[in-house]
Amino acid sequence: MVDFDHTERGNSKSSRTRSCLLWGCGFSIVALLIAVGAFWSLFHYGRSEVAPTVEKFLELMDQQEYEQAYGMVGFDWKKTQSSDEFENLGTVIRDRFGGLEGGSVSGVKVSTTTQGTFAQLAYSATYAKETCMITFTLEKAADSWIIKGAHFASDQLVEAYRCPNCQSTNVVGSKYCGKCGSPIDPLADRKPPIG
Ligand SMILES: [Zn+2]
Repeated sequence: MVDFDHTERGNSKSSRTRSCLLWGCGFSIVALLIAVGAFWSLFHYGRSEVAPTVEKFLELMDQQEYEQAYGMVGFDWKKTQSSDEFENLGTVIRDRFGGLEGGSVSGVKVSTTTQGTFAQLAYSATYAKETCMITFTLEKAADSWIIKGAHFASDQLVEAYRCPNCQSTNVVGSKYCGKCGSPIDPLADRKPPIG
């Protein structure tokens, strides 16, 4: 039996930094510098490669150029979301977040497999009403990057697409509840009256 006592946590002495047991400090430091350098240059390579695509996409969304933005997304995304649904999602994002004010890349990973070259880029987007972390998945085409997916880490968006009938959460951008089939329209109460 192990008792885990939370109050003990602050008292335990941190273990002393271990001296370089195996290969000597010099080697470790050089190895560390190489690792950091490699990571740094990979980050910058990835950022300069991929970020312009993501930034253009977010700009188009912000300018409500949904057709052009939809043109940047991949086949798999288009299969799960029609251009109408995409436009609806864009409108909801704009409505909930406000205008795009800026942003920065907080992480990027580029990898090449037998299937092609892929990238994952985490982008911290600053909107007027909220800062949202967006994780993009991209695939390299001939001379450009195709956006395969974008995940918005936002409770507000998740709530916007919660089913009004059965209360289950849905994929952001859904038109109908995946569980009960009820229509979902986060902008229902904001549409101007017809006429
Ligand atoms: Zn439902």
